[in-house]
Amino acid sequence: MNEQALARLALEIDLRQALALGEFRLHYQPQISSETGKVIGMEALIRWQHPVRGMVSPASFIPLAEELGLIVSIGDWVLREACRQNRAWQVQGLPPVPIAVNLSALQFLQQNLPDKIHAILEETGLEPRYLELELTESTFMQDAEQTITMLQTLKAMGLQLAIDDFGTGYSSLSYLKRFPIDKLKIDQSFVRHLASDPDDAAIARTIINMGHSLRLEVIAEGVETAEQLVFLETEGCDHIQGYYFSKPLAADEFSVFCCNNMDR
Ligand code: C2E
Ligand code: MG
Ligand code: MG
Repeated sequence: MNEQALARLALEIDLRQALALGEFRLHYQPQISSETGKVIGMEALIRWQHPVRGMVSPASFIPLAEELGLIVSIGDWVLREACRQNRAWQVQGLPPVPIAVNLSALQFLQQNLPDKIHAILEETGLEPRYLELELTESTFMQDAEQTITMLQTLKAMGLQLAIDDFGTGYSSLSYLKRFPIDKLKIDQSFVRHLASDPDDAAIARTIINMGHSLRLEVIAEGVETAEQLVFLETEGCDHIQGYYFSKPLAADEFSVFCCNNMDR
């Protein structure tokens, strides 16, 4: 076996044990209202704290977890932990805001997903409106009719639904119209060169206008600079997420950030 295959196998062996060994953590990145500058939500982002490898980024293990089917059990853990933590903050007296959780295609295809989420909300005591699911366009396009039925079920439960990395996949506008979603997240690849690339600026502006015309909220991710922020605010982008305000934070850091930034 060549070196690369061995390294992958070693990672796979570790990944299969990580959940049982309690090596996953969630970090939380604040989402800020353009209008008020206050925290209006957060995104939960998984971290793998490996005893030897150190912090492994999701980009290097989520695709493997998807391939191995492990993403379903890891995803269950993420959903439960995100709901538990968000409810705990509410009990502590932080103003209630939704927590966004990323969902892989494999999770979305589970027929029992609504039941699972219902059970987690019951167990953690979190109201459905404080859980938002982030889905990508590639997840949607596998079977449009099945997608719409699943989205309608999740929406009827009272959850919030967002399309992540919007603009990078194949979005059919006629489906977009029929999907009961609440929010578009402009992908960071369009945000990165907003100030210097007129084409990216045009795409971001178009997504904001289209989203608003379809009565959707629009959030930009990967916002790092004041120039990007000013552009997005001027164009009416509702919410901002990115290093400009904060990187993803551990739970205790997040509550400190919120205490300094939220309307209380
Ligand atoms: P995503 O959902 O699009 O998350 C946004 C990514 O951008 C995060 O990377 C975040 O840390 C990073 N980011 C935030 N602000 C900035 C910024 O200003 N500049 C730059 N350059 N990056 C920024 P992260 O945490 O490494 O996650 C990468 C991807 O892994 C996520 O992309 C998501 O697709 C996936 N992922 C993370 N957590 C989960 C999870 O719990 N479940 C699933 N299925 N996927 C997850
Ligand atoms: Mg996301
Ligand atoms: Mg994204």
